[in-house]
Amino acid sequence: TQHLLDIKDLRVSFYTYAGEVQAVRGVSFYVDKGETLAIVGESGCGKSVTVQTVMGLIPSPPGRVKSGNIIFDNRDITTLNDKQMENIRGSEIGMIFQDPMTSLNPTMTIGRQIAEGLIKHQHMSKNQALQRAIDMLKMVQIPNADNRVNNYPHQFSGGMRQRAMIAIALACNPKLLIADEPTTALDVTIQAQIIDLMKDLQRETGTAIILITHDLGIVADIAQRVMVMYAGEAVEWGSLRDIFYEPRHPYTWGLLQSVPRLDSDEKKPLVPINGTPPDLLAPPPGCAFADRCQYAMRICRQQPPEAMPISGGHYACCWLLHPEAPKVERPVTLGG
Ligand code: SF4
Ligand code: MG
Repeated sequence: TQHLLDIKDLRVSFYTYAGEVQAVRGVSFYVDKGETLAIVGESGCGKSVTVQTVMGLIPSPPGRVKSGNIIFDNRDITTLNDKQMENIRGSEIGMIFQDPMTSLNPTMTIGRQIAEGLIKHQHMSKNQALQRAIDMLKMVQIPNADNRVNNYPHQFSGGMRQRAMIAIALACNPKLLIADEPTTALDVTIQAQIIDLMKDLQRETGTAIILITHDLGIVADIAQRVMVMYAGEAVEWGSLRDIFYEPRHPYTWGLLQSVPRLDSDEKKPLVPINGTPPDLLAPPPGCAFADRCQYAMRICRQQPPEAMPISGGHYACCWLLHPEAPKVERPVTLGG
């Protein structure tokens, strides 16, 4: 069967005065219809650049897609021109970002902003589109939608603005919704409401979701599959269960140890993994995590580890999975 989105060996660089920053270094993944894939990792790991590339939003220059195929709904969208990409963005791929204020137009009513895409991509009349805008605001649970549709963004609270963004993104029934840190700017209660809303809407509309986040609590709440990125590469991927309960990459262990246990309400402060990611102007020849990895062996600094299959759909890129590697005990993570 065909995946809705299928990405192979994506490489994206930014050409700066200092040299070539290799932001995404050979990432492959897929998303199926109706499912949620979470992409997790520290800031700067390439997760935003990866999805911005899918949406054709990499500023070029300085950015350049060096290689890779991005098959969306049976088309290689790397071959499309700007106009065709813009059409796909407005209708088949929706997106929401961390800060709705930067993507909402402050001079236009919320209703018109939802209606615009419908008029443009679905050829609705202005009245039809505004009626649909009201329906969408109801769908994202904005109270008093009939009046609120005439509000400007500044008249909405932060949580309501994010709901409005979701309404805009979903108005044209996209097959894929890309959500880049959609709740990071919101307080915890509103965060949970937005995630619940996204889950409900996914159930109703069948849209697939790529969720980018560094919050593993949110991942556990909504994702079926998870890809862990580090220094521009995917280092481990698998089902939610695989990643949370059978993680095999030391970086994933570190991520999981830095969040409170899922089964307790105890709010422990985040324990960041010691050290910093490598400079992507000059990535190391071996494993990019070696400088921060307590298990690093000589080969780790010499050769990059390849993806090792662990079980159906679960892979990790780590020399510890080599049959001749020393056996190490996984530290206590979320799964205990
Ligand atoms: Fe650590 Fe080596 Fe595995 Fe990299 S390949 S994560 S350095 S053990
Ligand atoms: Mg980001």
